[in-house]
Amino acid sequence: MAKYEGATWKPISANFNKGRRQSPTKGLILHITDGALNKKTGIRTPPSLAGLYSTFNNKAHKASAHFGVNKDGEMWQFIDTDDRAWSVDGDTIDAHWVSIENIAVPGDTLTEEQIMGCAGLMYWLNQTYDSPIKMAVGKSDSGIAYHALFQRGHPACPGFPVISLIPRICASAVLGF
Ligand SMILES: [Zn+2]
Repeated sequence: MAKYEGATWKPISANFNKGRRQSPTKGLILHITDGALNKKTGIRTPPSLAGLYSTFNNKAHKASAHFGVNKDGEMWQFIDTDDRAWSVDGDTIDAHWVSIENIAVPGDTLTEEQIMGCAGLMYWLNQTYDSPIKMAVGKSDSGIAYHALFQRGHPACPGFPVISLIPRICASAVLGF
């Protein structure tokens, strides 16, 4: 059992595999949620943490992540990190990674609170699983990775503004925030 003390425990009951996360734990995969498009205004609105929870808890959705972090830094943990989320392939990739959804739409950068939230979680993964604090530069690498790095679709997740923040997240994680 592994639960992060910086997140509120909100367990889902579908879309993950109990006990199927394997060693080594390579690190953290960053995602963004995207959001619903208002066709009149052209504006996309990302979900709330509660909305994300109900999506991940819906059997028909067939996708999940261990964590979600809101723009104000509030973080929920949906899946024990010893269990396998379905964030990239729900299979051999997710078996070695912990995943987080940042509440945001394509093109958004992360808020300071999300940067610090991801950094704190990465520090905890380093302390708990010995995952290295560094930017992953290829799909076989380890550290902080992002969805599109795995080249399994989702090229816009999490987008360049978020990817470019990974060195900053690493710098804060090294300091133990
Ligand atoms: Zn994604």
